[in-house]
Amino acid sequence: MTLRFASIGSGSKGNCLVVESGHTRVLLDCGLPPRETERRLARLGVAPAGLAGILVTHEHDDHAGQAYPFAAQHRLPVWLTYGTQLSLAEAGKPPGAVATRTIDGRSAFSIGDLEVRPYTVPHDAREPVQFVLSDGASRLGVLTDIGASTAHVEAALSGCDALVLETNHDPDLLWGGGYPKWLKQRIAGPFGHLSNLQSEQLLGALDRSRLKHVVAAHLSQQNNRPELAREALARALGCAPDWIGLSTQEEGFAWRELK
Ligand SMILES: [Zn+2]
Ligand SMILES: [Zn+2]
Repeated sequence: MTLRFASIGSGSKGNCLVVESGHTRVLLDCGLPPRETERRLARLGVAPAGLAGILVTHEHDDHAGQAYPFAAQHRLPVWLTYGTQLSLAEAGKPPGAVATRTIDGRSAFSIGDLEVRPYTVPHDAREPVQFVLSDGASRLGVLTDIGASTAHVEAALSGCDALVLETNHDPDLLWGGGYPKWLKQRIAGPFGHLSNLQSEQLLGALDRSRLKHVVAAHLSQQNNRPELAREALARALGCAPDWIGLSTQEEGFAWRELK
């Protein structure tokens, strides 16, 4: 089987990754408007009718904001933790007719040909998780929206064949920029987002023996620059910065394949 993955957008205005194994294709997060999601999926040759469902990491709008509307339009199930379901309901976003499947952040499960292993992360959401996805042979680790790495996170991501890794901000650009102080503190805090350096250190701490793809993701458009994110991750690997992939807000990134 082949594991393929691509993105249609990454960042605080909306995230959506597409992961495919064999006949099974899922969205990981759904933060762009449904029309826009359809349009961008078409660029990748993906029709909503060919999706098995949507995995959601946490309730923040850029990840979960459009999951129920998109799922309702296309009759897709949505996998999310109990805490994420509760938060969405309390924010006035009930699932309506959408079929929800509750994720246990410590238990792996299957969706068709795809193995899904959630893992818990520190972030300022009710019950956030991130995911490692596999076709049984190759593993893709995804990590965005985390304030600080943990031993649990490093264990989950060690030995992956591909990583999509948050490089949210450069601390100098963040603290020197125009965001209000409370927001700067939230972003840089232990339940906010990873800086380029934090991401570099996390990558450096992993078992990288199988690693064939690294994509920098969830970059702040105000507080980061693509070259800084790529240089940081390249330092951890000792590779050229242009080997590091980049997931952008407008384009995401094109299909990458693991055989
Ligand atoms: Zn986010
Ligand atoms: Zn978040």
